[in-house]
Amino acid sequence: MSSDEKERFYPNRWPRIILMSTEEIVGEKGVAALLNLAGLPQYIGNYPDDNMRKEFSFEHVGKLQQAFWDMYGPRGARVFATRAGRKTFNDGLESFGKVAMAARAAMKIGALEKRISVGLAFFAKFFNTVSDQKVNVDENENEWLWNIVECPMCTGRTSDTPVCHLAVGVLKGALENFADRDKHFRITPLRCIAMGHEQGVISIEKQPIS
Ligand SMILES: [Zn+2]
Repeated sequence: MSSDEKERFYPNRWPRIILMSTEEIVGEKGVAALLNLAGLPQYIGNYPDDNMRKEFSFEHVGKLQQAFWDMYGPRGARVFATRAGRKTFNDGLESFGKVAMAARAAMKIGALEKRISVGLAFFAKFFNTVSDQKVNVDENENEWLWNIVECPMCTGRTSDTPVCHLAVGVLKGALENFADRDKHFRITPLRCIAMGHEQGVISIEKQPIS
């Protein structure tokens, strides 16, 4: 195994929230079926612990996301992923009191666009610190670009459409929480490592939809 292929991890709490938010919709049996399909039966009735230790491998994140795709189709997988991502962000933040407060304070100052730029840079740093997912942010006149350099959602997967909807949900949660709850932004995955691109790219249009 080269250093390039070394194992990477999400903190336990995130897959835990994904599984719990899925259970709210499909029940315990539904989650058990999903975990069996993913080849991850060890997590049935035994969700990852509620802590931020980096122990849930990207390989498992990829397998779990693939199982959503296989069981519910791309459209269903997108719905689950967006919901789980949003919830991961919202629930996950509660455990980061100080960090969340700093972000909120930073995002209170200035015009909306400026605040979002600050917030996204902040969240990128947050992701890079608490997980092995590596992201950075670019922007142009019309959009912010959330670049996913190391992507758990893509790990071990190939697809002809983007598969990183979990990230879309996380960004939706982030913008709702910190920018303006009444404004909604179009968030679209443009590139995806599973499609053979070098990195994943998610576009957030600067002009709110509503
Ligand atoms: Zn991807």
